[in-house]
Amino acid sequence: MKINDSIRNIKGIGKKSEKLFNKLGINTVEELLCFYPSEYDIFGKIEPVAAASEGNMIIVEVCLKERPRLTVSGNLKITRACFKDTDRSIIAVWFNMPFIMKMLHMGTYYILRGRAASRNGFLELRQPKILSRQEYAALTGTMQPKYHLTAGLANNTIIKAVSFALKETDLSDDFLPADIRSEFNLITWREAISAIHFPKDRDECIQARRRLVFDEFFFFMLALGQLKNTKHLMASRYIMKKSQKAMELENTLPYKLTTAQKSAWNETRQDMSSGKVMNRLIQGDVGSGKTIIAVLALLMTAENGYQGAIMVPTEVLAAQHYETFCELLAGSGIKTGLLSGSMTAAQKRNVYAQIKNHELDIIIGTHALIQEKVEFSCLGLVVTDEQHRFGVKQRESLYLKGSEPHMLVMSATPIPRTLAIILYGELDISVIDVMPEGRLPVKNCVAGTNYRAQAYKFIDQQVLAGHQIYIICPMVDGSESIEAEDVINYADMLHQSLPSGIRIAYLHGKMRPAQKNEIMENFAGHKIDVLVSTTVIEVGINVPNATVMMIENSERFGLAQLHQLRGRVGRGSAQSYCIFMTGNNSKEVMDRLSVLESSNDGFYIAEQDLKLRGPGDFFGIRQSGELDFKLADIYQDASVLMEAKKAASCFETMDIQLMCRKYSRLKDKLLPYMDGTQL
Ligand code: ADP
Ligand code: MG
Repeated sequence: MKINDSIRNIKGIGKKSEKLFNKLGINTVEELLCFYPSEYDIFGKIEPVAAASEGNMIIVEVCLKERPRLTVSGNLKITRACFKDTDRSIIAVWFNMPFIMKMLHMGTYYILRGRAASRNGFLELRQPKILSRQEYAALTGTMQPKYHLTAGLANNTIIKAVSFALKETDLSDDFLPADIRSEFNLITWREAISAIHFPKDRDECIQARRRLVFDEFFFFMLALGQLKNTKHLMASRYIMKKSQKAMELENTLPYKLTTAQKSAWNETRQDMSSGKVMNRLIQGDVGSGKTIIAVLALLMTAENGYQGAIMVPTEVLAAQHYETFCELLAGSGIKTGLLSGSMTAAQKRNVYAQIKNHELDIIIGTHALIQEKVEFSCLGLVVTDEQHRFGVKQRESLYLKGSEPHMLVMSATPIPRTLAIILYGELDISVIDVMPEGRLPVKNCVAGTNYRAQAYKFIDQQVLAGHQIYIICPMVDGSESIEAEDVINYADMLHQSLPSGIRIAYLHGKMRPAQKNEIMENFAGHKIDVLVSTTVIEVGINVPNATVMMIENSERFGLAQLHQLRGRVGRGSAQSYCIFMTGNNSKEVMDRLSVLESSNDGFYIAEQDLKLRGPGDFFGIRQSGELDFKLADIYQDASVLMEAKKAASCFETMDIQLMCRKYSRLKDKLLPYMDGTQL
């Protein structure tokens, strides 16, 4: 088998399962091999039921006490059964596995392994694996890969397919030149791919990961080097004059720009009038007020007779920005439009026409902006908001919609400067490091789950005082439908725990964009008091009346991401609070979370994240999501990033055509990072 072959060549993958694999983006053998586990199951020892704590994996040996029961909720079939060991009982729950009913017999002992979760205040085991004594003995101490799944595709099916592919494919052709491998002490691609799926132990897993992370950074740096070469100091077609309207807007704002906002705006304005194409990154912590800089820059562009576009990562944020822009630009004579994926085909066609005919000056949109059908008449400025949610390629796709427009990139992830220079090497950087005046710093609290009842009391008081609350449920099982179920369950439980007048709603990734928008609008309009959500609300949402952010299982998130979540509160004049709930009070977890307790400074937190997360910490912790790396995490893998940068800079001076001829396999790897046109 060759790595480019279709996965249909793999034993056991038929027409039906092929479709499921395709859904996960896996079409070829190579894509299958590069579909890395999202985490590993490490099989520990049998523990007493009493040792279970919320959010943690546990293995217990228990006896079935009552006949299992099957209930149906939406499209989920839920099996529940009660088990007991010597002194405690616990309920086990399985989703969409009704056959479990027949497998279980009263009075028999089973070894169950699953994650403990809380439901209505009681702990239950989620989707536990049922193991025989022999299976348990064979698995103890091993690491088993766990993959992100899609409905209908089992983890085991992926394991089998990967094993087959590893055995039957020739993987000896390594695209990383041997001299680089030996200089940076990297294992071969074949070894790495095999070990990332089936590591013998932790060390092997770390070595494999290091090689694959190196690859990601290396190709990213090579691609970036090319961008830098093509863009550096390019002459601009859009030389802009001073903007009267922008000045008026600045003067009529209900607040004064901070000094940091002022200098970011000055730098932006000067870039756009300089005669060179602007390539600028605005980096500022959540809530530092980046949006207004985008508004001013787009207004200046429009007044100069050009079009401007701003791309944001979610529909909810696009709708919110659209509203903000309309409000701020009312009466200016500038026409603003919205383009998002959830609009009907007819609505979209209408907007496409308005964009093409220059009936719109400023367009706010999601990824829908980089669709083929979007054509601008004279695109002078492109802005990407929350850049850390986009890839370089997406940013470039928007740029390529115009002919060398100015580019403004905004990111809320405070990256230590040393890393920012590497990652955003081709951009000039403005930093907004001052918060608007009158903000009270968010008060923080790290709490164990036994504090939950008190937290609810506090939430009740805040609602009585007229404020609003976010509660974040983590994704526990790696499946969107179960995640949705968790959020719904949690909201149900909250209905019972909070006084009846409190309006509770929930939000999760499986909802349709229009539904999500409606909920967010209702929350923004204070028709909802408490919003239970997954991390879909993480990005950019602005509801200044929200004063409490409570994060369940906060130990499962990276510090940078927790800081982003916390940034949803503390946006108005009232005192805000962030409650980090954790089911795990080990020293490492507490040390990590205490960083958030003691600081509200995103740059400091990023530095600490860098220090506290060693190469072995990647099990079960969410990635920070910076840029679009598959495995690599800029905080955790900062040292590998430096090495990859060093390796890539040897190639930077080399002509890319020559490089691709000399290292032909490199070219294939580079393509996904670039826009084709440049190679
Ligand atoms: P972010 O940098 O996270 O994108 P936003 O642009 O959404 O932040 O701004 C957060 C809030 O702060 C908004 O409600 C905005 O109107 C307000 N704001 C922005 N700049 C200032 C300022 N200089 N003084 C007071 N409030 C401001
Ligand atoms: Mg923002």
